Amino acid sequence: MLLTLIQIGPYMAPMSKPTLTSVPKIDRPTAAAAMEAVRTLIAWAGDDPDREGLRDTPKRVINAYSEWFRGYDLDPAEELSRTFEDVSGYDDMVILREIDVESHCEHHMAPFLGKAWVAYLPTDKVVGISKLVKVVEVFAKRLQTQETMTAQIADAIEDALKPRGVAIMVDAVHQCMSTRGVHHPNVSTITTQFTGEFKTNPSLQDRFLRVVGK
Ligand SMILES: [Zn+2]
Repeated sequence: MLLTLIQIGPYMAPMSKPTLTSVPKIDRPTAAAAMEAVRTLIAWAGDDPDREGLRDTPKRVINAYSEWFRGYDLDPAEELSRTFEDVSGYDDMVILREIDVESHCEHHMAPFLGKAWVAYLPTDKVVGISKLVKVVEVFAKRLQTQETMTAQIADAIEDALKPRGVAIMVDAVHQCMSTRGVHHPNVSTITTQFTGEFKTNPSLQDRFLRVVGK
């Protein structure tokens, strides 16, 4: 069944920068097929899917997947659609610090956990700060690379708010690196994306990085 899924929907990442429309259109298998796939993985790992402790595991796994990957059902543009134009002359940067990032790498489906910092320079409209947190969540709750996710968050804010600039930093530890492979538990990965004035004005970048503390 997993193989069928792969054949139906090979998602090729766009060569250019990712866009908001980068959610693949696929026919989702049924819950029963997904649970059968989990049973196969358990057996492949070497255990008996029918033993007592594992009998309900496929159900629990697909419920967990519904949470971990709920970002496929959410539209970042919609989250950012409600903007406020009355900013009473406020024109400096808005920064959100240390937004929790809980995502899964697309190479191993292993968790990567960390923090995101999101800043933008408003023009004539701002958005509710909780919506910015939501945008991070929408992209994090998909199979990701940290690089793509960082660019997508910037893109979504850029598209919705048309700000003078966006700055994003993500700092995360990848469990595919800490618990397997090279086994380096203390290495974190930092990615940044700057657009507009954050890209062209080094002193703005510096102010952002000072707030971030990196
Ligand atoms: Zn990985």
